[in-house]
Amino acid sequence: MVKLDELDLKMIYLLMDDARLSISELAERLGVSRPTVRARLEKLEKDGVIQGYTIKLNPELQRAHNVVALIVKTKEPGKMDEFEEIIEVNRFTSTKYLIKVAVENMEGLRKVIEGAGFEVIDVMPILESREKPLRPKIKIPYKCDYCGKEIVGEPIVHKYRNKVYFLCCPTCFREFKKARENLEKVKLSKEQKVKDAHEHEHHTHG
Ligand SMILES: [Zn+2]
Repeated sequence: MVKLDELDLKMIYLLMDDARLSISELAERLGVSRPTVRARLEKLEKDGVIQGYTIKLNPELQRAHNVVALIVKTKEPGKMDEFEEIIEVNRFTSTKYLIKVAVENMEGLRKVIEGAGFEVIDVMPILESREKPLRPKIKIPYKCDYCGKEIVGEPIVHKYRNKVYFLCCPTCFREFKKARENLEKVKLSKEQKVKDAHEHEHHTHG
């Protein structure tokens, strides 16, 4: 079992959103040095935690096809590999499967069914597919970024200004957000004061 820590996980969350983040960008967002990021990345890749950096295709491109779910029986499951149209295979038993087929039309569907030698038990058109974002299922001791307590179970993942925070409970989440907002207000009013002071200076000199 690969051991990961909070930094690894925050990096994974950032990369899940944007796999093209550079080492410098990651370092900045995580508040660590670039060599640290580079070393961590290399380790995550070597350990097989990060297996690749993929692209996300516009769903419109997939909608050019009709996706149909079929429950089928087949004696030659290996045949399914021959069909590009079969985009998903879920096995119930050695002969019974739930598969998804992407085809242009009914004729295409018929070709797949006949070609693969399926006995069709049920056919259902899929009107909409929604992929739930995967969360890494890794048990590590997270610390709440608000109260500092160790988080039991799944953390609340909060992305704010390009950074990732882990919160232990809705209360901490709310307080964390409030604290951030206040911080920003203070910062803004300080900036305003500096600006005012400058302007004042100009007036007196001019
Ligand atoms: Zn907390």
